[in-house]
Amino acid sequence: MKRAVQKAVLRTLGATRLHRLLAPFTAGQGAILTMHRVRPAPTAAFRPNAHLEITPEFLDHQLGWFRTKGVDVVTLDEALARLASSASGRFVVLTLDDGYRDNLEIALPLFERHRVPFTVFVATGYPDRDANPWWMTLEAAIARSGRVAWTASEPVTLPTVTTEEKQNAFNTLAARVESLPEDTQRAAMDDFAVRHGVDVAALVADAFMHWDEVRTLAASPLATIGGHTVNHPALGRLSDRRAREEVVSGADRLEEELGRRPRHFAYPYGYPGKIGERDYRLLAELGFVTAVRTTPGTLTAVSAATPTALPRISLNGYFQEPRYTDVLLSGAPFAASALKRRLSGSRRASRPAPASASSG
Ligand SMILES: [Zn+2]
Repeated sequence: MKRAVQKAVLRTLGATRLHRLLAPFTAGQGAILTMHRVRPAPTAAFRPNAHLEITPEFLDHQLGWFRTKGVDVVTLDEALARLASSASGRFVVLTLDDGYRDNLEIALPLFERHRVPFTVFVATGYPDRDANPWWMTLEAAIARSGRVAWTASEPVTLPTVTTEEKQNAFNTLAARVESLPEDTQRAAMDDFAVRHGVDVAALVADAFMHWDEVRTLAASPLATIGGHTVNHPALGRLSDRRAREEVVSGADRLEEELGRRPRHFAYPYGYPGKIGERDYRLLAELGFVTAVRTTPGTLTAVSAATPTALPRISLNGYFQEPRYTDVLLSGAPFAASALKRRLSGSRRASRPAPASASSG
């Protein structure tokens, strides 16, 4: 339901053009966009991770829209330079998280055709084939089963026959997974996969690039490869030592495989409650030029002062129309909640829209 409300807000802002009135105050100079997968929409009714993918048609259309609207697509470095110089003209930065194979096979040709730069943030456990992306494992287990059993914490058995039951089970178990300590999630999900007949190795090999493919992508003059840790944890839930280890080891692996150390980073999850001030300082201390979150917002000169805590706007699978992007880029939908946060002085986490366990 939350999604329907968000859609209504975007639609109303767009239809009334109210966002255009607010834009001079809320749009900032530009925005960083978050994507994950780019592929033709699967036909299954149960698609709990649909917010994490957009179609090639939408991406193509959106890139053309940027050109006709005079919105420059720039690199993260160029974005920082523009913020520092208060250069005029709207811009966006394209980023894709995790390292999905479709980024190479489907998105790259579109970026090339439109001649726009982009950054892919790779969690190195995926090309190293040492990972269990729990949101995909949960989806696969629930999709193939009539019931699933969770045993790692607050044990529960749930029916998963109808699409509604499957979606409810996904939501319940995603919350269970996310409440586990970061360093025990992997073992719990490996066990869950075995008990439900999910071949995680095959799932990872199917969805994510291996190193040869990451190298092919990195060879594009339009591409930047950024860090995204090794195991895709919520850094804010790790000790100082473990958080540093995840960032440094991920950067080390990228440098070993690609011959270049990453200068940009995306926080897995990346919203309050999952990351925080300690992590922004860590990334700055480790020499990263930028680090991007998933907290929505536009970029202003103020953003340049905190380059390891930059907001991003999701090109979300549920909002695949340029008119929604137009409203999002105006910054208007985020202005009210940002103001509320500022007035209340609250740092409490509010989950990004739509609530998505795996975003980032
Ligand atoms: Zn991620």
